[in-house]
Amino acid sequence: MTDSLLATPALADLQPFDEPPPPLSTTERQALLDADRSALWKPFTQMAGYVEGEPLILREGRGNWLRDIDGRVFLDGVSSLWVSVHGHSHPTIVRRVREQLDTLDHATMLGPSTLPAVQLAEKLVEIAPGHGHLSRVFYSDSGSTSVEIAVKMAYQYFAQHRDESQRKRNVFVTLSGAYHGDTLGSVSVGGIDLFHQIYAPLLFSTRQAPGPDPYHRAFGEDPEAHEAACLKALELIFEEESGKVAALVMEPLMQGAAGMLRHSVDFLRSAAALAREHGALLIIDEVATGFGRSGRMFACDVAGVVPDLLCMAKGISGGVLPLAATLASEQVYEGFLGDYTEYRTFFHGHSYTGNPLACAAALASLEVFEEERTLERLAPRLEQLEAWLNRLSAHPHVGSIRRLGVMVGIELVADKDKGTPFDAGLRVGNRVIEAALEHGLLIRPLGDVVVLMPTLAITEDELTFLCATVERSINEALPER
Ligand code: PMP
Repeated sequence: MTDSLLATPALADLQPFDEPPPPLSTTERQALLDADRSALWKPFTQMAGYVEGEPLILREGRGNWLRDIDGRVFLDGVSSLWVSVHGHSHPTIVRRVREQLDTLDHATMLGPSTLPAVQLAEKLVEIAPGHGHLSRVFYSDSGSTSVEIAVKMAYQYFAQHRDESQRKRNVFVTLSGAYHGDTLGSVSVGGIDLFHQIYAPLLFSTRQAPGPDPYHRAFGEDPEAHEAACLKALELIFEEESGKVAALVMEPLMQGAAGMLRHSVDFLRSAAALAREHGALLIIDEVATGFGRSGRMFACDVAGVVPDLLCMAKGISGGVLPLAATLASEQVYEGFLGDYTEYRTFFHGHSYTGNPLACAAALASLEVFEEERTLERLAPRLEQLEAWLNRLSAHPHVGSIRRLGVMVGIELVADKDKGTPFDAGLRVGNRVIEAALEHGLLIRPLGDVVVLMPTLAITEDELTFLCATVERSINEALPER
């Protein structure tokens, strides 16, 4: 056992739960497992394999921890797919949502507004990059819809532009490796073939520039030169499509679902500047990076970039209820104003647009950010994470580590010197996750990239546990040499 493992706090001392609720009877438990296998169709899951395994059914969440129906506890190492910001069931958020539930559960926003929706909109405008530049908030309920809306807004903005020469702008420029969600519009601007290729006939075409990815596409070469080449290719597309580009769509600083692919602040700034120079709108998708994940409130703040349309979801409600928002600049918003009979309206909306419970949760989450000085208190945790990752990078099967704030991708490879991946059939990433689960850590891989995304509320001891458990699980999961 290494020193770090000896010093690792024990799960039993860390987990915050009281006595577990009475266990399910054997019959109740079996009925639940049977129903899980027979009635559910789960996201991004090959069900043929899933139904053969033992389902993990969670029952409770508290702080950074989850407990299943059998009383087993797990540290939530990916913030429940990147949503949980302050941990589970934060008392302030729970209280505000309860109060809201007793006051008004839901009302349509087609017509009326609700108190929390108005208050949250005002707050989002204030905290968003540009502090007031993104002056209009359009709600929806998932990251995918927030991007779908931004794309439709950009398209319609130009299609009905008062200056006729601008109406030719209908081309979207995207980056390879991009992930913006699973609805057809957001898939159209995405760039992950594994997820998106089969739908190609249903998608609108875009101009795709290479997203920076020095580890896979320019192994052993100078990463800066690689980024410069990506930028050049992007510039060429803008030139070829001169006067026709509606928007550049991108994730800022980190392409999450592509396997945590990191690009530099300079790349983001230069790409944003290219969009500006060529008269296109800039759509930034902060669904994953927003609300503290980058170490700042938004990744755009790290780079000092202010987009025309900004997509938010996941962490917006503290990870408690489904909520998303697309923020637009006043310039974009004004393009939709006119007489009723001009039909310039943005004809888009959802039944649960601006749901008051979700907005109340989001307001409470922002209150927690202030009260607990969440981002200030995160700084030593980021140093702790960085120190461990620096050490881990020497591991003979860790090919590359990418990090932005609390977003981490650890890529495992068969041959580090050549960057050769493991045989996909070995499912090394999956084996790491299974080993981690045995040791009380819930994480999820992207291929052979071990993804970590602790909540912003993770404590020093919990982070030590997370790091040690990941390291141990990697070692256990690697194929025999
Ligand atoms: N954009 C980005 C950058 C994302 O990471 C995701 C989800 N991982 C989405 C959009 C889609 O969000 P949702 O799953 O809430 O639809």
